[in-house]
Amino acid sequence: ETSEDSGPARASSKKPSEPAIFISVDRLPEIQEARLRLPVLAEEQVIMEAVRENHFVVLCGETGSGKTTQVPQFLYEAGYASGTGIIGVTEPRRVAAVSMSHRVAKEMNLSTGVVSYQIRYEGNVTSDTKIKFMTDGVLLKEIQKDFLLQRYSVIIIDEAHERSVYTDILIGLLSRIVPLRNKKGLPMKLIVMSATLRVEDFTENRKLFPTPPPVIKVEARQFPVSVHFNKRTPLEDYTGEVFRKTCKIHRMLPPGGILVFLTGQAEVHSVCRRLRRAFPFRRGNTATGEGEEAATDSSDEMKKFKKAKHKRTVSLPRIDLDNYSALPVDEGDEDRLAGIDDEGSDLELGDDAADTEEKADPSLPLYVLPLYSLLAPEQQAKVFRPPPHGARLCVVATNVAETSLTIPGIKYVVDCGRVKKRFYDRVTGVSSFKVSWTAQASANQRAGRAGRTEPGHCYRLYSSAVFGDFSLFSEAEITRRPVEDLVLQMKDLNIDKVVNFPFPTTPSAEALVAAEQLLVSLGALEEPPRTGRVKEMERARLSCPISPLGRAMASFPVSPRYAKMLALGKQQDCLPYVIAVVAAMTVREIFEDLDRPAGSEDESSKLAQRRARLAQMRRLWAGQGASLLLGDLMVLLGAVGACEFAGCTFKFCEENGLRYKAMLEIRRLRGQLTNAVNSVCPEVGVFVDCKMAPPTESQVACLRQIVLAGLGDHLARRVQQEELLDPKWRNAYKTPLLDEPVYIHPSSALFKTLPQFVVYQEVLETTKMYMRGVSAVEPEWVPQLLTQYCHFGSPLETPLPWLCASTGRVKCHCTSTFFRCGWQLPAIEM
Ligand code: ADP
Ligand code: MG
Repeated sequence: ETSEDSGPARASSKKPSEPAIFISVDRLPEIQEARLRLPVLAEEQVIMEAVRENHFVVLCGETGSGKTTQVPQFLYEAGYASGTGIIGVTEPRRVAAVSMSHRVAKEMNLSTGVVSYQIRYEGNVTSDTKIKFMTDGVLLKEIQKDFLLQRYSVIIIDEAHERSVYTDILIGLLSRIVPLRNKKGLPMKLIVMSATLRVEDFTENRKLFPTPPPVIKVEARQFPVSVHFNKRTPLEDYTGEVFRKTCKIHRMLPPGGILVFLTGQAEVHSVCRRLRRAFPFRRGNTATGEGEEAATDSSDEMKKFKKAKHKRTVSLPRIDLDNYSALPVDEGDEDRLAGIDDEGSDLELGDDAADTEEKADPSLPLYVLPLYSLLAPEQQAKVFRPPPHGARLCVVATNVAETSLTIPGIKYVVDCGRVKKRFYDRVTGVSSFKVSWTAQASANQRAGRAGRTEPGHCYRLYSSAVFGDFSLFSEAEITRRPVEDLVLQMKDLNIDKVVNFPFPTTPSAEALVAAEQLLVSLGALEEPPRTGRVKEMERARLSCPISPLGRAMASFPVSPRYAKMLALGKQQDCLPYVIAVVAAMTVREIFEDLDRPAGSEDESSKLAQRRARLAQMRRLWAGQGASLLLGDLMVLLGAVGACEFAGCTFKFCEENGLRYKAMLEIRRLRGQLTNAVNSVCPEVGVFVDCKMAPPTESQVACLRQIVLAGLGDHLARRVQQEELLDPKWRNAYKTPLLDEPVYIHPSSALFKTLPQFVVYQEVLETTKMYMRGVSAVEPEWVPQLLTQYCHFGSPLETPLPWLCASTGRVKCHCTSTFFRCGWQLPAIEM
């Protein structure tokens, strides 16, 4: 037992506590000095001893105590990267992976080829890499390739308190992998690092760790922080409140950095813009740098876009296969969606009117910096540097500043009290990002950011009563999101009995069962036997192995319904269209939101004009005849095709009611999905064509079937005249999932057509339940493509496919043998 426990650098020692060899690191004196001030340095010996003597160690300590930057260095010095294995560190956020790898390389005076990072789209790992920072999703994908993770001698799971889904799964997997490795004589260690929040989820979980791992607490110096609550709680305009409070602090309070917590990128930019206007700041004699950044917030996007455009005029974009990695969908998905899902477009200047009321005050320079996950690393790095002389630092951040990054010199924290979280609606099956109250633990963590270097103040823009209603801790992500993609990923790892998996927090059994059922219906899992004892059948239903189709689906970075569409897409050369449609469906809203109430008469007539324009464009994009039947998905396809054809310019989007950011996002996703598809079926050789021609009639028919095959559980049937018991069912549709009538939205391409059968992307409840993303279905396709959802009766009983209210299944008459739809769709008769 003990000999397995010894460090990997040497093999001959008997006593486990014997120090391993030391690798010297040549640090700069000022770095060394700063290190010595970090609380974690005082615990180095305790930590390393625990690591030597145990397979698992839990390390918790206040944010900023030096866990992320120092522990990898301790391990390096103790020789954990001098053998064949390297040190791996996972972060739930890309920002942290990139910036921490740079920081550690700098502290150790080593090149980024030795201390490297890998995130979904990029990395700088070389064969010399000794310390590798990565997102948790990246490591999960590596486990898929090499279950024993033989490249690593130690894995550090950082920020475990964030409880991201992939972190949770990784801890579960590593709780098995590490003992297995040690049993095989390949020593390996797991270090779980977390802020001081509820570590019992890991340590007291006997399924996870049969004997509780040692917990080392790092006590950090924390200066007192006075917390000030608002008397009232602004419910609507909290960004305005944030802005006013920050101005007040800057005008009235002594020097010290300000850290502002908001929920998303759009809010961050809006507040930055207002603050910069209120306290103009120019560095030296040039108006570049911050000034330029202040002028256009989208300059980064623009630059990227111009670059891409320039490239395109040289040659059509081809996929770089080497740049490909088929990671699971949600690695960094939060960033991806958070960027586009903020209320309204980032480019709209909605708060201008309010800004002009504020008098610009150049005598009080404020150095305003944004900080959020998708920000370019050079921009992020700015927050760590001291502000220009005479100016006060003000960082306007999303949740990334809560624990992942520690910004020096913060004395004041302004907390909006909210956080953007993913919510999952079990009825519609669609997840979305919503802003909600944060948890008490998070609010306290935010406040703590103010007391790192001296006593500080935290301004909470909500009342103490509201704070009292916050939940104590935020729930683990795994309990509030759909799990079908996760179940598919785990099955791809050959973890068939997902229910038995040692999750730190287990998702509800109900959610796991639903996921398994959906995946079986989609053909991603082998079907469980239908005969045998009830109990055995029950058990088999929850441990279906993955099918070949499922393997292909698992490598597409989208949720299983869309992955199925991609897997089927190669027929009739439909793949480029399927990719474009899936990309457009994954981006939450591509059209400008014109539902907002108008503030003035002038605005109201402008809005009316734009609505008319958008409606006209939608009709145009929907086309006529066959293409119209693809419905709203044809509109999406038409919008993407037209926009790309026009060069995807801001001007085009502006003129045609499209959200520029969404269109850029779609472009990026198309590239990414194309890469994924190419790696699954290289023989297809699909590429992103910005001058893609519209699909032919037969392709449209094929597309409609592919969409049906993916969205089969979102089938709806129009209520017939003779069923009209209640007038509310006029023009309504019935779905297996809902008792209430659902309708086609007036803005839908199929609003006037009212096809007998449709599939929809999601149901949105506004004044009524409206289906979004509607596409028409030919009745005869249902028994062919959705056999699993069908009941087959005699022809007399059911002359047409029928949705049975009691079973939620489609009843079909069966005159010939229908076969199951696997990879190939049945031939299409035109
Ligand atoms: P923890 O992981 O415990 O939260 P870190 O190791 O991230 O702590 O940070 C330790 C210290 O290093 C912090 O005080 C932080 O300000 C500093 N630090 C981290 N990254 C940088 C950087 N890029 N530039 C300057 N200082 C940094
Ligand atoms: Mg850290």
